[in-house]
Amino acid sequence: MKPQYIPLTPLPGADGHGPLIIAGPCSAESRTQIDQTARALNNFGVKVLRAGVWKPRTHPGGFEGIGAEALDWLAEAKRNYGMAIATEVAMARHVEDAYRAGVDIMWIGARTSVNPFAVQEIADALEALPVKPAVLVKNPVNPDLELWIGAIQRISKAGVTALGAIHRGFTAYGNNSYRNPPHWSIPFELRRRLPGLPVICDPSHITGCASMVAPTASQAIGMGLDGLIVEVHPQPEKALSDSAQQLTPAQFADLLANLPVMGGHADSDATKLDDLRVQIDHIDDEIIDLIARRMAVAAKIGRLKHMVGMPVLQSQRYNSLMNDRIESAVALGLDADVMRRIFAALHEESVRLQLLSTDGE
Ligand code: PEP
Ligand code: MN
Repeated sequence: MKPQYIPLTPLPGADGHGPLIIAGPCSAESRTQIDQTARALNNFGVKVLRAGVWKPRTHPGGFEGIGAEALDWLAEAKRNYGMAIATEVAMARHVEDAYRAGVDIMWIGARTSVNPFAVQEIADALEALPVKPAVLVKNPVNPDLELWIGAIQRISKAGVTALGAIHRGFTAYGNNSYRNPPHWSIPFELRRRLPGLPVICDPSHITGCASMVAPTASQAIGMGLDGLIVEVHPQPEKALSDSAQQLTPAQFADLLANLPVMGGHADSDATKLDDLRVQIDHIDDEIIDLIARRMAVAAKIGRLKHMVGMPVLQSQRYNSLMNDRIESAVALGLDADVMRRIFAALHEESVRLQLLSTDGE
């Protein structure tokens, strides 16, 4: 689908030079916790403080946030340190409460952006506000680019112009090294479809693990994303939500100090080339990951065929698989011969693995 123009103005905290940095705890837990975090972040030059006050939890009975009362603590940090404040909104009442508290950036969480009814309710509440806050739309939990774009369009149509997207990874079934695998091609496709829309990365929810946050943040900035939203807590081990993925202020300062510097020559051809190479590197990583998964499934098929006494090679299945894949590839503008060679190699390796996996059983 062709790129679509949406009217945009800069986000609070974005100065047009370096990446937009938003940081703060997953959840606001106490006045002291918010004040300690804001003070430390302000000292590192962070201009936007985040904290969830309403938390969408997977199971009932978990810590569901302090609620509107915690907005006062954020408003205090705004007064004391001059920082912009950001929180998650999931329904009309949240938008109204956050607006009254002077929240500068409202973000729509991944469990909300997945639901057009909920997004429309938020959009209607935003439309009714005399002055529009900035809004960041997280990707839906499932890797559905159209749903993400649709949510952004709903907010844009409500008259919000300080608008951006947050890439926080996508739910995956089973064991994974990431809590929410990033599928980097999706945020890049979003940028192609909505040119000019700032897309920032949430390495905390992508990784789910404090030690992986800094490398993922660097990757995102290295690939040219426009900023970061990172969970920082004065005592991560005591956090009431997402304890494993939050950084201490000191760890976060380290992350900032080690981010790749992308500014200065952003328009030069050399930088564009570097950006594109980093994109290629990450796409290749995804290809390798996919091939490994394909081979693991092939090995399982091998064992199953062995159990039921089926021969490894079934030429009918091979032919229909090949025709089907080539047809899909050609529809995307890929060369049929090249794709035939690639799939022949993949298939050959699958057969070898299937034969191996029946050995000795
Ligand atoms: C959060 O930012 O704390 C949060 C709940 O994130 P997500 O909606 O990405 O899960
Ligand atoms: Mn969180």
